[in-house]
Amino acid sequence: MNIHEYQAKEILSSYSIPVPRGRVALTSDQVERAAKEMGGRCVIKAQIYAGGRGKAGGVKLVHHPEQAQDYGKELFGKRLVTPQTGPEGLKVRRILVEEAVEIAREFYLSITLDRATSRYCLIASAEGGVDIEEVAQKSPEKIHVLTIDPYTGLRPYQARRIALALGLTGSLCEDCVELMLNLYKVVLDKDCSLVEINPLVVTRAGWLMAMDAKINFDDNAIFRHREYPDMMDYSQLDTLEINAGKYDLSYIKLSGNVGCMVNGAGLAMATLDVLKEYGGEPANFLDVGGGATREKVAEAFKIILEDGDVKGVFVNIFGGIMRCDVIAQGIIEAASEVHCTLPIVVRMDGSKVQEGKQLLVDSGLNVQTADSLGEGAERIVQMLG
Ligand code: ADP
Ligand code: MG
Repeated sequence: MNIHEYQAKEILSSYSIPVPRGRVALTSDQVERAAKEMGGRCVIKAQIYAGGRGKAGGVKLVHHPEQAQDYGKELFGKRLVTPQTGPEGLKVRRILVEEAVEIAREFYLSITLDRATSRYCLIASAEGGVDIEEVAQKSPEKIHVLTIDPYTGLRPYQARRIALALGLTGSLCEDCVELMLNLYKVVLDKDCSLVEINPLVVTRAGWLMAMDAKINFDDNAIFRHREYPDMMDYSQLDTLEINAGKYDLSYIKLSGNVGCMVNGAGLAMATLDVLKEYGGEPANFLDVGGGATREKVAEAFKIILEDGDVKGVFVNIFGGIMRCDVIAQGIIEAASEVHCTLPIVVRMDGSKVQEGKQLLVDSGLNVQTADSLGEGAERIVQMLG
């Protein structure tokens, strides 16, 4: 789960990590007022669930409150396209107005989960800042990576070694050590999969400060933090993914035209593979889970059909826990409700399979059944052909 920069900075600040003074605004009038508070000269920052805003016009230094307001008007409602958003961009609904800081040096610092070692690792670089991706490709030796032992945690001497490698000395080095240790506390306390400060800066006045902040929470830990769901900005998410989340379905949009509804993640992956093998292109990955109810199947089916790219649906369900006649009822209910005329192929197996198939055949829908995965994939590709 993602949160905005201003929320991430509030968290960092509560762990004694210095951030610029700032205020979040929802209207251009609020942008103007906040700019006045900052003394006129300030930085206007579009809040979207993506980075790369600086180069896309989402971060701007202004000198007067009126200029801030004008820029606010321009940004609100605009879809900002950055290298991280995809071509459709993300809509700006919130703006962070921040004091303009005089920057002397910029660094990259993050702690993220390394899935290969199942441990957190701290990543730091004295070069990069905004162009960290480029540094990682061209001169990876300039990036310092430290795998953190979960038993000992991040030790001060390890943090100091990294701070020295970044070229920090004296009290700045010690400030940086403290900052890294606090950052590690954030990661643990808040169950983060990523905390990134890019750039971490040394100001002209000689202080360390987090100039940007990105935090991702581990979705599996949300139940431990009651405040997280309210921190989510739904305007930044795909509506279909929001609906899927509500019904506890795993849904991921893909680029093809065959909607897929499957129970179990492993079966879903196998289904996409076999579909591709027969020349089909999946429009999504949707796992309804093991013990799905009729309502859940109906909801899943509707989510698939709401995607305008879907030209046909392939259902592949193993009715181990679920009964096939119940699945069939869910499909029929959903398809009739949204007046679906698209071709549907249902491959199912398990208890009450004959009854399930019979219900589908009698339903009047444009549906065919299949006995094997390959047969089903071949059939839906033919029906679309
Ligand atoms: P993004 O990573 O999305 O491009 P950042 O928040 O990192 O956005 O901003 C881009 C650049 O703008 C930063 O690298 C920094 O140089 C500058 N910047 C951001 N916030 C401020 C600020 N409050 N004062 C001065 N410069 C800033
Ligand atoms: Mg940044």
